[in-house]
Amino acid sequence: MNKKVLVAGVKTDDPQPGAQGPQPHDVRPIQSAPITTIDLINLREFTRDTKQPTHPEMLDTAPMEHVNEIEITEEHITIKYNERINRFYNVNEIIQKEWSYKYNEDEEFVRAVAKVIDLSRKHLKDLPENLACPPGCAECCSGYEPFVSKADVQRIADHFGMPYSEVLSEYVVQRKSADGHYVGYLKKVTPAIESQCVFLKGSKSGKFYCGIYSARPGDCREFTPIGCEDVDTALSRKGSYPVGPAFMPKHRGVPRNGKRPR
Ligand code: SF4
Ligand code: SF4
Repeated sequence: MNKKVLVAGVKTDDPQPGAQGPQPHDVRPIQSAPITTIDLINLREFTRDTKQPTHPEMLDTAPMEHVNEIEITEEHITIKYNERINRFYNVNEIIQKEWSYKYNEDEEFVRAVAKVIDLSRKHLKDLPENLACPPGCAECCSGYEPFVSKADVQRIADHFGMPYSEVLSEYVVQRKSADGHYVGYLKKVTPAIESQCVFLKGSKSGKFYCGIYSARPGDCREFTPIGCEDVDTALSRKGSYPVGPAFMPKHRGVPRNGKRPR
């Protein structure tokens, strides 16, 4: 068993309930970024000479200017630090250094870390309540442009019963990503950066909802609000949240698939 618990970053395989908006763009690394691993077991003179494990308090952490993530497993503590991000159009190249400390020879330390892991797992169960977006908040549906892949466009086309090419021209700003994964991003109501997504429905914050929720792009559905700084803090997280009618394409009668969008 080699379960992971992230301490600085939070990681869970479960989908996050309540996430109804899009995400700040799901940036994909261009490729697996080069990682420099400083393995103290090989690096430190003490360890080389004595063959004893290195203790954390002996670390020279001066070069570790900016810690990005601490990961604890049953065998290692890995600290990723000094991350540098080179930003390109919708792809990022992430370069970071990584320090890994193997501690499984130190029984006392293993027991202490095991307690931390148990505590973290216990608190993972608390996360859904803490992480849900407040109903009706859609600050991220304005300001961001969710990228769409061919599959996203096809899903929306099926949802409306429209041809793929029509959805592409009416609702997508066509711009292929460098890695070829995306074909563009969703249009906004106006070209202004703060304008809202063309599919956003509702009159104001607290009443917003996605007009194509079941067909929304992967960029929106993969979203987790962890660390969101755009949240409308005036909104309550309690109570039921009725939504209105779904988005309907303009100038359309019965959709070509004969079904109304849900
Ligand atoms: S499709 Fe538009 S309205 Fe729906 S979640 Fe994504 S950004 Fe928001
Ligand atoms: S809390 Fe953040 S992520 Fe969630 S809907 Fe509001 S702005 Fe979007």
